[in-house]
Amino acid sequence: MFSAADLPRPALLTAIVASAMDAIVALDAEQRIVLFNPAAEAMFRCSAAEALGQPLARFLPGRFREAHRRHVEAFAVTGATTRSMGHLRPLSALRADGDEFPIEATISQVVVDGRPYFAAIVRDITVRQAAEAAASARDRLQEVLDDLPSGVLILLAPDRRVEFANAAMAELVSGAPTPALSLAYGRDFAFLRADGAPLPPEADPGARALRGERVANLQVLLERAGRAPIPVAAHAAPLREGPGATARAIVVVQDVTRLREAEQLKDDFLALISHEFRTPLTAIHGGARLLAGAAAGLDATTRAELLADVVAESERLDRLLGNLLTLTDVVAGRLRASTEPVLVGPLARRVADEVGSRGPSHTFVVDASAGLPPVEADPDLLEEVLRNLYENAVKYAPAGSTVRTTTVRDGEGIAIRVTDEGIGIAPEHVGAVFERFRRVGGDPTVRGMGLGLYLSRSLVEAQGGQIAASSPGPGRGATFTVTLPVAAGWTEAEEP
Ligand code: ADP
Repeated sequence: MFSAADLPRPALLTAIVASAMDAIVALDAEQRIVLFNPAAEAMFRCSAAEALGQPLARFLPGRFREAHRRHVEAFAVTGATTRSMGHLRPLSALRADGDEFPIEATISQVVVDGRPYFAAIVRDITVRQAAEAAASARDRLQEVLDDLPSGVLILLAPDRRVEFANAAMAELVSGAPTPALSLAYGRDFAFLRADGAPLPPEADPGARALRGERVANLQVLLERAGRAPIPVAAHAAPLREGPGATARAIVVVQDVTRLREAEQLKDDFLALISHEFRTPLTAIHGGARLLAGAAAGLDATTRAELLADVVAESERLDRLLGNLLTLTDVVAGRLRASTEPVLVGPLARRVADEVGSRGPSHTFVVDASAGLPPVEADPDLLEEVLRNLYENAVKYAPAGSTVRTTTVRDGEGIAIRVTDEGIGIAPEHVGAVFERFRRVGGDPTVRGMGLGLYLSRSLVEAQGGQIAASSPGPGRGATFTVTLPVAAGWTEAEEP
């Protein structure tokens, strides 16, 4: 039968105190150290022989001493039995060599032979605190990385195992926001040369960074399992966590698809404007040379025709340049409309006359219903829109056909419809005609930059209106409808 009375009490307690992993320090009523176990010796870097009899304050940083003294006084010594002073909030202690370190301690009061003592059990939490700090820094870093719009990979040497991939990287690879995706280099993704050829292993950005190299702005393709590759810019750097070989590397991957598209657009656009400017310039140059060189030998009719060509082509150049200037305003967000009440009928007639007079091949009919109120518009911008629509009608409808403009009340606004009898637009292309540099299904010999309708839409929207295209189908004509609000404050009673 076990009996507690059989235990070798003093010997057992001494052995426990001596072998405890926590420092155990006992103090007498005067706060002098009366017990200092081996763990305390190791923690405070002070032998028991040196510590015994010393005031506890010696092992407290100066700024805590006063608070500690008050704390002990408040914990009035009574003749009572053992009671706990509870856990002390995390605080600091001082090693014998002056090194301060974070501790956690519990203190209790004991009374032995009528004399009060304090017993403190102290734990050095340097390692734990550092680990916690590192963990919370890691969590914060992970949050920051997950919020980054670029893909981030942390790779481990030697075989580029993915230790961490942020949400953007997972999305780049999988096409969906999947934060907790574990990715494998070579299985889920890899980098290819910009031309689609495999990247030699020594050129791979991850491998280069793990070899200690820094890689900036490497233009490659990101190959993804089961999905089309995308152009990316890769940046990579070794992560040095101490002396010696690189164990980790970071790779940042930026999707540059839009950038590539924009570059392509710019290249196409440059080719297009060079071509668009060259054609009228060639005509002007040729006409002018003929007129200058052989003026005497040309009959009056030929001279007049050449001159008319030169004038028409220089006007064309002027309009091209005007469109480009408007484009720069639109792109820079500088387009401002200053609106006022505008009567559509007279304005449309003036623009139709101007466009029609350039080549009297088309009949312009402006059918503005009488009694309609004016629209709230910027007359210059509206004029430019109508000019674009009429020029298109001339370009895309055959000679001899009619271009009709009608205006009708449409809810709160007025709809201006320009209808031609030309090549029309296929249903699948109707939505695309307002895109920048977009030319759909038309005759490639018809000159154009795919800019007029894009600009027209910007100009209409700047005036608070809308523009839409419709067509019964190829070969059956097209209608462009501009809707603008009725002039501010205009009521039906006031209509002219
Ligand atoms: P551009 O005429 O210089 O090509 P636009 O932006 O004015 O550029 O027009 C874009 C495209 O829309 C044209 O290339 C043409 O395919 C189509 N389109 C424009 N107007 C008409 C029209 N009246 N009839 C048929 N197609 C048209």
